[in-house]
Amino acid sequence: MTTKLAKAQHAQYFQRFIHLLPNQLAIHDSIRLTIAFFALSGLDVLNSLDVLNEKKRTEAIEWIYQLQVSGAGPRSGFQGSTSISNDASRYQTGHLTMTYLGLASLLTLGDDLSRVDKKSIIEGVRACQNDDGSFTATLTGSESDMRFIYCACCISSILDDWSGIDKHKAIDYITKSISYDGGIGQGPGLESHGGSTFCAVASLFLMDELTKTLTEKQMNRLRYWCLMRQVGGFHGRPNKHEDTCYSFWVGATLQILGARHFTDATENRAYVLTTQDSVLGGLAKFDNSPPDPLHTYLGLCGLSLLGEPGLQGVNAALNISQSAFAQLEEIHKTWASD
Ligand SMILES: [Zn+2]
Repeated sequence: MTTKLAKAQHAQYFQRFIHLLPNQLAIHDSIRLTIAFFALSGLDVLNSLDVLNEKKRTEAIEWIYQLQVSGAGPRSGFQGSTSISNDASRYQTGHLTMTYLGLASLLTLGDDLSRVDKKSIIEGVRACQNDDGSFTATLTGSESDMRFIYCACCISSILDDWSGIDKHKAIDYITKSISYDGGIGQGPGLESHGGSTFCAVASLFLMDELTKTLTEKQMNRLRYWCLMRQVGGFHGRPNKHEDTCYSFWVGATLQILGARHFTDATENRAYVLTTQDSVLGGLAKFDNSPPDPLHTYLGLCGLSLLGEPGLQGVNAALNISQSAFAQLEEIHKTWASD
């Protein structure tokens, strides 16, 4: 078993995605920004963003701004790819996940967000909230659940403007989604899941409503539910196989709940490292399966939460590096003094 994190190989792995979308990922063109975020923030967590020179970083920033759909009223936000061209502007529409990842990627690249059309984007967020408090990803019809409440909270937190969210309704949706077993599902009556539990807890935390909303008993049941997800590495639901990404989803939830120190860090790290390709780079979901950008990024973030040497710290709630978060705090100070 490999016990050393193959940092240089993982940095190489991410660089392959910056300019090129590999063949097998071409079907994901419409969410190209997601892959860019994993690669950029992944390099950042590896303390290796400097492999991109100034010119490449500027090009990346320009590309992300091209994805911004601004001044489009409720359709404002970021879209996932430039394949939806400006010529077809009536088809352009923001997507909450892409807006969150666009803003997070700009922060990672050291941009000051000065060209972000904050007012339009918040209008776009507002338009996506449903009566039950949940959010849809886009105005053009999509699923609506906890994931998009989380993206709406990240956008509002980054833009330091909560006027696009009816917090009362969102909190109501979240509390109704707490399951009988103490975990949280994608919506009311749905099975508890590590991903939706993260989205719910991080949303409450970003809204500054976590301890005001949940009772101590609910918090303890959540901590217990999350701790029970460790089976060496972490899985997302009872009786499932451990999976690299839950070292972040569940690990970050426990970090926000102040209970990560109750986990077995050695076992968790050992599992994540069994999924790494130490020759070509990248981390996979399971050992003996092929690496992908999502599991590589979230695996590294999971290791970062454990204090892995050589990795940068991550902000658990926003899922960005500590330096990107520090950049955001500076931007907020500037906006406050405007
Ligand atoms: Zn996974």
